Amino acid sequence: MPQDKQSLLSRVRLDEIRGRMALAAKAAQRDPASITLVAVSKTFDASVIKPYLLAGQRVFGENRVQEAAGKWPSLRAGYSDVELHLIGPLQTNKLDEALDLFDVIETLDREKLALALVKARDKGRRLPRLLVQVNTGAEPQKAGLLPAAVPGFLQNCRDQWHLDIEGLMCIPPVDAEPGAHFALLAQLARAHGLHKLSMGMSADFEIAIRAGATHIRLGGALFGGRG
Ligand SMILES: *Cc1c(COP(=O)(O)O)cnc(C)c1O
Repeated sequence: MPQDKQSLLSRVRLDEIRGRMALAAKAAQRDPASITLVAVSKTFDASVIKPYLLAGQRVFGENRVQEAAGKWPSLRAGYSDVELHLIGPLQTNKLDEALDLFDVIETLDREKLALALVKARDKGRRLPRLLVQVNTGAEPQKAGLLPAAVPGFLQNCRDQWHLDIEGLMCIPPVDAEPGAHFALLAQLARAHGLHKLSMGMSADFEIAIRAGATHIRLGGALFGGRG
């Protein structure tokens, strides 16, 4: 697609999503400015992402360290205010690379990773902002802490590891009604005084906004079919 057409299309899509976000926020009596759109650019080439940067989008999500390392250093070179979120599982052997790339890790989900973060910090690394991933549907194949394990984990983060946790993130089961999962995540966050909630994707972000999402993660609705 020619560059100007690509750029116009990305503007139209961003405007449409921002409009829907504003309506959902209004219906929930929330300030639209309290909700951040994370543009999930996984699987999309730099050439597809670039027009969104030109159109003013600054917060992006990637689910693989390797893929992000291939695209983002050059993409973000011209934009000092880009904020990159890791939204996929993080292996500890990729932690150093992830720390070079990401401003936020949304998928802190186990003690081993917490300890690796502590070790990196002790070596002088600046840590990204952190969210804890919760497996609200208790799906065996999915990453994230079981809801029952969240209180103990958060307590360890605070008291033993001195890791500052900003909030919680979840990916509800694909075939479930997402509202109950969002409500559970919001309730867990409230119970622990956490203010950030990353929940809601292309198909259900309005429901997530109603339930209190502060970050919605949209891929398909923004970029079109997966590349
Ligand atoms: C891919 C992905 C998204 C975006 O999904 P869409 O349905 O394309 O909006 C959101 N969150 C996570 C964790 C993802 O892996």
